[in-house]
This record gives sequence, structure tokens and C-alpha cells, in this order.
Amino acid sequence: MRPLLLNPLFTPVTSLAGVGPKQEKLLRYLLGREATPRLVDLLLHLPSSVIDRRARPKIRDALPGTVVTLEVTVDRHRPPPPRSSRAPYLVYASDDTGDVVLTYFRALPGYVEKLLPVGAKRYVSGALQMYDGVPQIVHPDRVVDEAAFAKLSGIDPVYPLTEGLALGSLRRAIALALQKLPSLPEWISPEIIRRCQFPPIKEALNRVHMPLELTDILPDGPFWSRLAFDELLAGQLALALVRAQLRRPAGERHAGDGRLRNKVIDALPYALTSSQRRAAAAIAEDLRQPVRMLRLLQGDVGSGKTVVALLAAAAVTEVGKQAALMAPTEILARQHIKTIAPLAERAGLRVAILTGREKGKERHEILERLDAGQIDLLVGTHALIQDDVVFKALALAVVDEQHRFGVRERLALTAKGEAVDVLVLSATPIPRTLVLTYFGDMDVSELREKPAGRQPIDTRAVPASRINEVMEAVGRALSAGKLVYWICPLVEESEAEGTDHLTDATKRFESLQKRFGDKVGLVHGQMKGTEKDRVMAQFASGEIGLLVATTVVEVGVDVPAATIMVIENAERFGLAQLHQLRGRIGRGSESSTCLLLYREPLNEMSKARLAVIRETTDGFRIAEEDLKLRGEGDVLGIRQSGLPGYRIARPDVHGQLITQARDEALRIMQDNPKLKGDRGEALRCLLYLFERDEAIPLIGAG
Ligand code: ADP
Ligand code: MG
Repeated sequence: MRPLLLNPLFTPVTSLAGVGPKQEKLLRYLLGREATPRLVDLLLHLPSSVIDRRARPKIRDALPGTVVTLEVTVDRHRPPPPRSSRAPYLVYASDDTGDVVLTYFRALPGYVEKLLPVGAKRYVSGALQMYDGVPQIVHPDRVVDEAAFAKLSGIDPVYPLTEGLALGSLRRAIALALQKLPSLPEWISPEIIRRCQFPPIKEALNRVHMPLELTDILPDGPFWSRLAFDELLAGQLALALVRAQLRRPAGERHAGDGRLRNKVIDALPYALTSSQRRAAAAIAEDLRQPVRMLRLLQGDVGSGKTVVALLAAAAVTEVGKQAALMAPTEILARQHIKTIAPLAERAGLRVAILTGREKGKERHEILERLDAGQIDLLVGTHALIQDDVVFKALALAVVDEQHRFGVRERLALTAKGEAVDVLVLSATPIPRTLVLTYFGDMDVSELREKPAGRQPIDTRAVPASRINEVMEAVGRALSAGKLVYWICPLVEESEAEGTDHLTDATKRFESLQKRFGDKVGLVHGQMKGTEKDRVMAQFASGEIGLLVATTVVEVGVDVPAATIMVIENAERFGLAQLHQLRGRIGRGSESSTCLLLYREPLNEMSKARLAVIRETTDGFRIAEEDLKLRGEGDVLGIRQSGLPGYRIARPDVHGQLITQARDEALRIMQDNPKLKGDRGEALRCLLYLFERDEAIPLIGAG
């Protein structure tokens, strides 16, 4: 149970004054939560920059284009003439050096009169501009009297926002949430506090949200670093708790004599690459050990991870056990079964698929066979972790594209068997430090070579102004019978709040359909699974030549005949994502082309990204460049460059802390694995605070 102490932080944001249903919806979107955000979510939403209002010049000395705070006397008002709603409401004010105009568009009746009464002294803060030679502030951010001014900090935090959410109201909500912040026990050990000079968490939260110095919000400063360490420690401790459960009962072995594996290898229409062979051998060795396997198999898209996973499944089948392969999407699960089924059949391995789509009698039958041990490998989506899915003897859980699943799902799957071995497949090559973040101390196998016969991909960047030439080229390719992907960032405008000029896949589909007729298909994330599969199958068979898609094709989709990809708004995608997308082509024996359409002007970061992606197709290199580039500061803001699943810690800034948090977690597991005593209580608090508490029930079971 969550410590009572934390309850105030887990109350919904709607309990705050001024946060109604409309704000709630915006906050849900902003904070990436499906349910109503809680105060803790607000407090962990950190500023991306600050506005410095400390400049207090006289009007004569105020620099246009800067944020200033002026001390003025209100001289007169000039409301807009009646019936001219577009004209602004002007307020003339002055100090002993000059005049300033305060401008309000579409002010509510009475609002300005009350805020700036004639004759009153006011402190007015905002960006100063010159208009017709007169200093002007349009919609001052702040207008306060002397008493209120005395209480104001001169530095305001600026937060990542979403369209429709005003900075002021987010700030107010966060300030209210800060008032509810209870005193929390210290969970970090005194040595680390001393070594890293961490402030207490309460002070850290107060200072990042109410900075006293411009440097208070820097990610590598003491306040942010403290919070990042907390977040990382929670993650590492949760992983360590899971890890501690991984001993296998004596005598259990999960790999047989290689008989089935050899049959699978004989059934392959190609030879394994040497890194596939090495990975398969390492896995077999793990399966034989008395300790459970926790291994990450990393390899670029198309490097051939599926067959390695199949060999692992064959190994456990040899000793009469079962395996499960869980993929994040239905498309991917079906892709896997398509690769696996023919090979499995020839090797005498019984496989089946279970997703949200298998229902009623069909599902019932699968579950029965599974329970009876008549299925050796069950492939599926998170439908696999439903309660009524019961294995006779699950020994191996293969989880594809892990970071899309949380610890909770991983645990749920491994809980369906005794001492289940875990193999994680990742198509995003992850730099070492990040492996540590997501997986703790995991063994790693890498598939670095591409299978033989792969052709290079010619990648080019093209400004969006030349889209017509691109269309013509696509037309020629279609007439020549080629298969073309056309990737658009988002499905609907509603998803694109704040990014209004992103191309809408549906709109692009319509315009391409006008031009190329029924050779054009569309898939996006909001389509039904069956519908998606139908379109994908039409594309794979060539019935459709041009597939407009959102990033649903990012992971795993395999149509080897597709040789051309157009990516719209390529500057909007991260490096890893571009790499993933591009990995959908260049999979067959023909050479491929990738066109990156970008909008001008490109900022430095996007320019650098496009240059990297043009230069190389090596995923491991791209991952390293990505980390480096992020280190130089992502203009899109902090959220963009964070670690998925982490709100505060950033790989580029907090790399050192990741290792320290890991070491601290290991020390805790050594000294106090049951999290007892005051420190143990404090650590439980930490796990709950960062919602890594799914590991807590394991503590008693050990
Ligand atoms: P990944 O899951 O790593 O993206 P897949 O396992 O889907 O890659 O493999 C991509 C394609 O390469 C599949 O069509 C598969 O049959 C093929 N393949 C796998 N290993 C080899 C190999 N050693 N030689 C040739 N083709 C291979
Ligand atoms: Mg794959």
C-alpha cells in the first residue's frame, strides 16, 4: 500500500483551485496520462527555460525586444471605439523619463479598468516593443501593485505547454501543488548526498519551480540532478528487485540436446550470420544455467532477430517446455508468426497466435491447447498477459521492442511460468548507458552484421517545395511496378495540437489517391487491426503500390519488395525513428531509395540529424550520434530529448548518475533487500513516488 504520507501528491489535479474539466483534459494531454493527472505529475513536469524579469529600467532606457519590469503611473485609458471589436484597448502610462502604451486585444469589459485604474502606481512586466516610435507592451505578463510586487520573484519558469493551455494557469497550478508537498524522508544515503551535494527533494522541487537564480533550472545543476537521481534510483531499484527473483529452482534446465534447433536451421532458406550463431549459442548457454536468463538481443531492423528467438523457443521445446513471444502491436505479432510458422512446421514445432482479434471459440480453443501443452510457442500481443491465458509449462518469455512495455507487463508474462527465462528483442540499438537504465545489469547480444544480399539505401534530403518532383518520381516508380511507402507524422489534427502544419496522413492519402487512383492505400494507428492487416496484405502483394502510413510501420513491418520511402516532415522525426522507418526498405535484393522531405528553414539540430541519416545506415552509429547531438541541446525542448519512460533524467546530461544509481541500488539489495527500517520505508516512498512500486509485492515473496 502506498505510504499515507504521499496521499496529497496523488490527489487529482482537479482538486486544485482553477483546474476544471477543460484544464484537466489539457493537462492529461500535456503530461501524457490517460487518467486524470495527479499533483505529482505536475510537480515532475519541469521548466524548459525561464523568463528573467529582474531588469527594472526607466522607460527611456528600456531596450526594445527585451523583457522588462517597469514602475509606472497610469495616465489614461483609450477603449476601442464601439462596434470596432478588433481595435485594441490602450492604456497610457508613464514614469519620469517617458511614456509607455499597454495594449490589450479583445479585453473583457471592465478587466483593464480594474487592473490599471487611472492614477494608480503599477509594476508592469512583459516584452517591450517599439510601435510608431513609442514603447509598447502588448498583453503585459504581469501587472501588480506595490504589495504584490514585493512578493514576486524576478524569475519565472517557462514550461513545455500544449495548445490551449496558458502558461500562467499551469504556473498557478504548479505553485498550488507545491504548497501541498509534504516533507518526505531522505532515501538517498548520506555518502551520496555528501558526494553529489544533493539538496533535499523538497528544496529541489521548490527551486526548479520557483527559481531564485537563472541557473536553478539547469538539468546539470544540483536541483534537477537530485530529482534525476531519484528517478533513476527508483528505476534501478525496481529492476534490482525484479532481478533478485531470478534464481531458478535447482535441477531445472531449459535447453535440450539441440535436436529441434538443428531442424529449424536445416529448414532455413539461408545460412545464419555469424552474429546470429553467436547470439543463439549464448542464449542456449543461458538456458542451461541454474540462474534465470535476462538477455537483451539488439539488432538493427532486418538483422534477423526473429529466427534467433525461434531458435531459443526450439531449445526450450526440446525439454518439453513452452515459449511465448510478445510484440507491441498486432501487425508485428502477425509478422512474426508469418516468418516463424513455415520454419516451425518443418521442424515440428507447434505455434499459434493470440491477439485481441482471436475471440470466442477460436480463442477458447487456443487457450485449451496451450493449457494442455499442445502449443510450443505462442506469439501475440499483450493479449498474452490476460489472466485466463494459462501455459502448461512456460519457460521462456521473448519480449519484442521492450521499451514499449513496462516492468509490469514483463512481470505479468514471466509470472505465467516457473523461473521463466527472459529474452528481450530491441531494434533500437541502445548505447550502453541506456541499456543500464532500462534493463539494469542485463546480458547483451548484438547482431551487427546485415544478412547477406542486402542492398544499400540511397538516402536524400529534399525540401518540401520540390514535392511535385517527388510526386512525379513516385509516379514513375509506380508505373515500373515498384512498392512505395509514404510516411506522414500524424493521423488527425486533434493529435497535432501545437503543431498545426504537420501533414495529415489522411489528407495526403486523399491527394495521392486523386493523382494515382486505387493504387494508393492508407494505414494508421487508429484503424482496426483487421483493416490494417488487409491493407498491409494488399501492399505486400502489390495490389496497392503506394502505401500512405503513419509511424505504425515503424516497427517490424516486413515487405521486402518495397524499395522506396518518402518521409514527410522528416525534420520532425528523431534520428532513431528515422532509422527505424527507413529500415522498412532495403530488405530485399533490389537497391532502395529514401527521400526525406523537409520544411525550410531547417534548424541546426534537424540539419545535423538529416546529415547523419544520409551518411550511414549503421544503427549503432546512429544511436551514438543521436546521443551526442542531444548533448548539444535539443531546440525542441527537454521532453523531446528525455528517455522514454523517464520524465526528468536525461541520458546526455545524467549519464554519470545512471551508473551511480545502479551502484546504489545494488548496495541496497545487499544491505537491505527487504527494505526494512526507516531507510527501507523511505525507499518504498521513493518507489511509489516514481511509480516503480510494481516491484514491491515481490519483496515479501522472496
Ligand atoms: P528483425 O526482426 O531483426 O528486424 P527479421 O528477423 O524480421 O529482422 O528478419 C528480416 C528478414 O531477414 C526476414 O525476412 C528473415 O527471413 C531474413 N533473414 C534473417 N536472417 C537471415 C540471414 N542470415 N540471411 C538472409 N536472410 C535472413
Ligand atoms: Mg523484427
